[in-house]
Amino acid sequence: MRVQVATIGSSPSGLMLGQLLNQAGIDNVILEQRSKAHVLSRIRAGVLEQGTVELLERAGVAGRLHAEGLVHDGFDICVSGTRRRVDLASRGGVVVYGQTEVTRDLMEAREAAGAVTVYEAGEVSLEGFDGDTPSVRYRKDGATHQVRCDFIAGCDGFHGVSRKSVPDAAITSFERVYPFGWLGVLSETPPVSDELIYVHSPRGFALCSMRSPTLSRYYIQCTLAENVNEWPDERFWHELRTRLDPDTAAVLQTGPSIEKSIAPLRSFVAEPMRFGRLFLAGDAAHIVPPTGAKGLNLAASDIHYLSDALIEFHATGRSGALESYSRRALRRVWLAERFSWWMTHLLHHFPDNGPFGMKMQTAELEYLFSSSSAQASLAENYVGLPY
Ligand SMILES: Cc1cc2nc3c(=O)[nH]c(=O)nc-3n(C[C@H](O)[C@H](O)[C@H](O)COP(=O)(O)OP(=O)(O)OC[C@H]3O[C@@H](n4cnc5c(N)ncnc54)[C@H](O)[C@@H]3O)c2cc1C
Repeated sequence: MRVQVATIGSSPSGLMLGQLLNQAGIDNVILEQRSKAHVLSRIRAGVLEQGTVELLERAGVAGRLHAEGLVHDGFDICVSGTRRRVDLASRGGVVVYGQTEVTRDLMEAREAAGAVTVYEAGEVSLEGFDGDTPSVRYRKDGATHQVRCDFIAGCDGFHGVSRKSVPDAAITSFERVYPFGWLGVLSETPPVSDELIYVHSPRGFALCSMRSPTLSRYYIQCTLAENVNEWPDERFWHELRTRLDPDTAAVLQTGPSIEKSIAPLRSFVAEPMRFGRLFLAGDAAHIVPPTGAKGLNLAASDIHYLSDALIEFHATGRSGALESYSRRALRRVWLAERFSWWMTHLLHHFPDNGPFGMKMQTAELEYLFSSSSAQASLAENYVGLPY
C-alpha cells in the first residue's frame, strides 16, 4: 500500500487527523492494534474545550455533539463540606460529551468517506522516518504487510510503538508520577448535580462527573496498591458519600456500576514531538493527570497544528509549519501540564505533604475563593487556552 500519511492508532487524535486529511484530499490509512469494538468500549474523557468542539465542527462531525452534548457554564469545588461555584459562562463554557461518542462519530465519518482503517494490526513497526522513504509494517491474518508513505503520525497513546521507535538519544522525557490513582465508576443513574463537583476532603479527592443526563461518572482518589476487585459497588458508593457534603450525599442516586477501573496519575512530556518524517500527537507524546480534563483536549490541539501543517505542505509544498509543529504544540502542552499539575496539587490529599504542605494547600484554596482574579485564571485554563 502507498499513502501520503500512515497513522498509528484509531484514537481520537488519529481519527481527527484522518478526517481533516480526507477533507483536504490527502490519502491516509490508520493502523490500529485492537478491534473496533474494543476501541469503542473504552470509557475515558468527557469534557471538551471550545477549541476541541471547533476542531470537530471543522471536521464535519459535530452534529450529534451539538444535539446531545451538555453545555456547562461552571463547576463546583467542595471544600470542608461547602460547595462553591467557579463560573465559566463568561469564557464560553465547556461541553460534556463522552470520548467514546467522539470516537464513534469520527469512525462513522471515516467509514462514510471510504477511508481505510486496519483494525487488529499486529506487530506494527516504523521504518525509515529519519530519511525520505518512511514505511510501516504490520501483521494481519498471518501475513506481513508494508505501507509506504510520506509521513507517519504516531497517535498510538502512551504505551504505543511510535515514541518507542525513536532512538533514546533523540528524545528527552520529563515525568512526575503521583502517589495515588483514581478509582472510577460509570453507572446508569442521573448525575447528582447538573454540573461537575470537584471535592477536596480529608479522606481524599472525589469527582462527580457525567456523560449524559442518565449516565454518571464518579471518581475517588485511591492508593496505588488498591485492587479494583476489592471495591464492590456498595463500598465505592459509601466512600464517595463520606467525601461529599451532606446535602449532595443525601441526593446521590446509586446503582450497579457498568464500568469500574483504576487509573494511575502521571504528568509526562516527551520532547521534541517530531523526528524527521514521524510526528507524535496526543498521549503518545504527553500525559496529564485527568484533574483538569485536558488529555483529550491536548490531543485535539496537537491535531489542529499537525493537520494544518500537513495540509499546507500538501497544498503548497512549503514545510515551514511542519518544521515548527513540535515547538507550537509543545508550548500549549506545557501550559496544560502546568494547569493539570496545579489543579491536582490543589485538590488531592498528598500522603507526604506534611503539616506545612497541608497549610499551603489550605491557603491556596482560601486564595482561590477570595480572589476573582484567581477564579478567572482557573476558568481561563479550564475552558482551554487559545491555540
Ligand atoms: C483509563 C483512562 C481514563 C481517562 N480518563 C480521562 C478523563 O476522565 N478526562 C480526561 O481529560 N482524560 C482522560 N483520559 C485521558 C484521555 O482519554 C487521553 O488523553 C486520550 O485518549 C488521548 O487520545 P490519543 O488520541 O492520544 O490516543 P489514545 O486514546 O491513547 O489511543 C491510542 C490508540 O492507539 C492504539 N495503539 C496503541 N499501541 C498501538 C500499536 N503498537 N499499534 C497500533 N495501534 C496502537 C490503541 O489501541 C488506541 O486505540 C483517560 C485515559 C485513560 C487511559
